Amino acid sequence: MNEDLKLYNNLSREVEVFQPQNPNQVKIYTCGPTVYSTPHIGNYAAYIYWDLLVRVLKQHEWKVRRVLNITDVGHLTSDEDEGEDKLEKGARQSGSDVWSVAERHMTEFLAGFRDLELVEPEVIARATDYITEDQALVRELMVKGYTYETRDGIYFDTAKFPRYADFARLKLEQLKPGARVAVSVEKRNPTDFAVWKFIQPGEKHTMRWNFLGRPGYPGWHLECSTIIHGELGEPIDIHTGGIDHIPVHHTNEVAQSEAAFERQLSRFWIHCNFLTVEGEKISKSLGNVITLAMLGEHGFLPLDFKIWVLQGHYRSLRDFSWTSLEAAQKRRLKWRNRVAYLQQMTDNKTEENVDAMTPWSSIWHELNEDLNSPAAFATIDQLAPEQESLVLWQRIEQLFGLGLFDSSAKPGKEARRILSRRAAAREERRFDQSDQLRDELSEIGFDVLDTPQGQIWQYNK
Ligand SMILES: [Zn+2]
Repeated sequence: MNEDLKLYNNLSREVEVFQPQNPNQVKIYTCGPTVYSTPHIGNYAAYIYWDLLVRVLKQHEWKVRRVLNITDVGHLTSDEDEGEDKLEKGARQSGSDVWSVAERHMTEFLAGFRDLELVEPEVIARATDYITEDQALVRELMVKGYTYETRDGIYFDTAKFPRYADFARLKLEQLKPGARVAVSVEKRNPTDFAVWKFIQPGEKHTMRWNFLGRPGYPGWHLECSTIIHGELGEPIDIHTGGIDHIPVHHTNEVAQSEAAFERQLSRFWIHCNFLTVEGEKISKSLGNVITLAMLGEHGFLPLDFKIWVLQGHYRSLRDFSWTSLEAAQKRRLKWRNRVAYLQQMTDNKTEENVDAMTPWSSIWHELNEDLNSPAAFATIDQLAPEQESLVLWQRIEQLFGLGLFDSSAKPGKEARRILSRRAAAREERRFDQSDQLRDELSEIGFDVLDTPQGQIWQYNK
């Protein structure tokens, strides 16, 4: 098992060897969803990649403490501190209140997490549970002179944090005021961002907390810094997110955390790429939003989507199509059938030495090379029958969580009865009947292989 885990670190823009600060507590933070609408497959793709990361860390026998936040306040429709709060908008559109919108979509999101067999984070932190801590962080930034006040809120003055542009390698001179639309006239620099927003008289904003003598709510970026500080402590080992977070959200997290706490926020920053649907960005206006429930309507399981995601590398741009999902579904079926086959074989080899087996060491090596799941999958596809064992497949299952050992769909009473009638028919060389029974089995979801050890059933869907 002594492989070095190599990960592409966005801080250095290089693949580096990862070692935790403390193997008994690998501190990971994952930017979570804004719970204002039903999550779509693009949202879940990121969590599928981070699930692989967590499983690989655990396979290294490191203990993981991962925190995922749930944004239920303050995320505006524009990342530029303009526009409406997404939760308030969700409530207005669905005719219910913000709290139940948040509750409903959080429950939905976590149900999807379970359907995808994603390892649940040790801490799931709701932004609205950290308002007091948010306010303490804003005060810290105020005391240290990093902020200024406008009519609109408390802003972080990015010019006071000289390393501001470093994280995303921003070219600040290109970000002239007015280069982006609707820059608040009171902002000192275009990159400045709100750490706290004031609610204007007459403005409808249900979620509100008193601070500095006025009602308001936290700026979107703030919660991640607050939650990391409270639940993990800086520096954390790995911060994950999407590449779209790099220039604004993560840049702002770094600035406010490192300014306030004077410690590095995270040692590693890992980002996954986008998912498009048939070449287009996923968006409501294009009508190409696909949810997990819609996968079901097309005859797919969430786990078919999971294997599809892992067929690509987390840093590559992925383009979803129903045809490519079909191929992924076939692959998962093939793998489940290898497991079902081995489980039915009576002469299972003794399998102590899986670590020394060549296929296991190459699968493990590939995952340690910056989570190269597509390469690992290719190795799995090429397993020769004599290289396979249940122990090896259990390892594969542990690493990817694909439901390969799920026995809930195994032949039930009816299928078992047909199988034994068919065995008897073959024994008595009644081959017409045996073929007819094969067809009956096929209709209820099973194929059958005739082997020297007798009949072996296989899933056919
Ligand atoms: Zn974040």
